[in-house]
Amino acid sequence: MHLLLRVNRFIIRVFYVILQPQKDLYFMSETSTIVEENKKSLNFIETFVEKDLAEGKNGGRIQTRFPPEPNGYLHIGHAKAICMDFGIAQKYGGICNLRFDDTNPVKEDIEYVDSIMEDIQWLGFNWENVFYASDYFQQLWDFAVALIKNDKAYIDEQSAEEIARQKGTPTQAGINSSYRDRPIEESLTLFEKMNTGEIEEGKMVLRAKIDMASSNMHFRDPIIYRVINHPHHRTGTNWKAYPMYDFAHGESDYFEGVTHSICTLEFVVHRPLYDWFIDELKKTKPEDGDYRPHQYEFNRLNLTYTVMSKRKLLQLVQEGLVRGWDDPRMPTICGMRRRGYTPTAVKSFIDKIGYTKYDGTIDMALLEYSVREDLKPKATRVCAILDPIKLVITNYPEGQTETLVIENNPDDENAGTREVIFRRELYIERNDFMEDAPKDFFRLSKGGREVRLKGAYIIKCIDFKKDAQGEVTEVYCEYDADTKSGTAGGNRKVKSTINWVEINAALPAEIRLYDNLFTVEDPSSADADFRDLLNPNSLKVLENCRVEPVLANAKPFDNYQFLKIGYFTVDLDSKPGKLIFNRTVSLKDSRK
Ligand code: ATP
Ligand code: MG
Repeated sequence: MHLLLRVNRFIIRVFYVILQPQKDLYFMSETSTIVEENKKSLNFIETFVEKDLAEGKNGGRIQTRFPPEPNGYLHIGHAKAICMDFGIAQKYGGICNLRFDDTNPVKEDIEYVDSIMEDIQWLGFNWENVFYASDYFQQLWDFAVALIKNDKAYIDEQSAEEIARQKGTPTQAGINSSYRDRPIEESLTLFEKMNTGEIEEGKMVLRAKIDMASSNMHFRDPIIYRVINHPHHRTGTNWKAYPMYDFAHGESDYFEGVTHSICTLEFVVHRPLYDWFIDELKKTKPEDGDYRPHQYEFNRLNLTYTVMSKRKLLQLVQEGLVRGWDDPRMPTICGMRRRGYTPTAVKSFIDKIGYTKYDGTIDMALLEYSVREDLKPKATRVCAILDPIKLVITNYPEGQTETLVIENNPDDENAGTREVIFRRELYIERNDFMEDAPKDFFRLSKGGREVRLKGAYIIKCIDFKKDAQGEVTEVYCEYDADTKSGTAGGNRKVKSTINWVEINAALPAEIRLYDNLFTVEDPSSADADFRDLLNPNSLKVLENCRVEPVLANAKPFDNYQFLKIGYFTVDLDSKPGKLIFNRTVSLKDSRK
């Protein structure tokens, strides 16, 4: 009940930010009904798609693309875009291509290309084709030459600072560059030179000739080509002049036949320019008839207690502030995978938050809730002891063993059972014993209450032993042989059940507990450097744990529930004899 209330609270919070402004969503008093309602209704992009289909636009074709720049690993925000781009194609019988927007060779690398493909497939999506914007360098170049010839572009030799200064402000018109009206022939010759290596970086750019007084700043003669003297990961040193994003993106859409070019809200102000380039391009391709791609925008995903900018994530990796792109604390897809999140959980989270035209921040707790929701029916329950202390059952015969049959998952009747050996000596959790226990302590203390060993017998503490430092080293108990779980006596109820592992069979393990990467909800908006807001306790390594022997066969990405503690998976660093587990998510939301 408590959990439910909390869950409802953060859904309310999320829905207040996200769903409330949506006009087509009438208010309902029951939050859960709103969740259901949202699931059934179309998102606004699907509404556009259905309208286009009804009108027979683009010959009834639906084609989308997911266009990452290969300059970093994908994060959960990209997962939202992936679910949209691939989801629309799936739902409406269209195709979605993967297109690498590789127009800036300085920051891009093949390592990122590979990781992006792996992450998309892990999420469960398949592209129709893989394309690269760099495949269109020649076509883009030809189009730029056509613009120059039509007096719609010119070479500017001013510095970047000068160009920026002349741009004006939203309320004040810009100033024409003194190069704006240079002869077309001169621009054509210089454009060639920009690509031969004769022109230094920053010495000249190609600008579209549009309108320096436009109310849309993006129309004030945008730069469309610049010189970069850095080898490209695919085209090597063939090119020295590289197209800018705004120029390359829409045109790549066009060359591929994209119908719905879906991106995030910051591109709304770029859309008129997208359309302007498409208009100009279409003039050169009358044979293409009515076909044209359209851009649609939805809200970016922002999550509390993390950052979503690739630049910042790269900084964390490069400066060693995390253990790599796939550090389980990172919001990257590979980080979440390593932590034990499942594709189903990620997609169910994306489904819950929906797509809107308003920016907001989603509570990390909702993502964690989605992970628990997915793992609860799937994860095998096992015992793990984080901080072991030895327990001796003094009236259990020495040398005797028993095989207990334990349910693998009470939430899944098909999950079966396993056998566990029970003996006189066990490990239990140190904090399940207290020397001077207060009245409301329901676990073990000398002369205290009865406690059930999970799946086994009821025991009672009779004594304990300390070492020279005063630390408790052993706890002595007596068991009641008539209380074995699964027998009639097993029904006797006591206040507490505690975890245990049998001392000989238990496996040593390292357990890594993760917490928020940052100490504040929005590390990006604060005045401080985001790196100063890192949570020093985001990783806690427990090296001396003990786990059930069944975990000897556990593999990375297998999901387990460590009883009473949380959901765990095997870390990639784990080896036979040196088991390492990551906490995927705690059992309950522990935030205030
Ligand atoms: P950069 O900061 O390098 O521009 P980016 O986050 O925009 O990076 P891209 O590789 O350009 O990353 O993104 C690929 C696609 O993913 C784009 O369509 C972009 O709009 C979308 N995307 C990126 N971040 C988010 C996010 N936080 N939420 C939803 N979609 C996102
Ligand atoms: Mg981008």
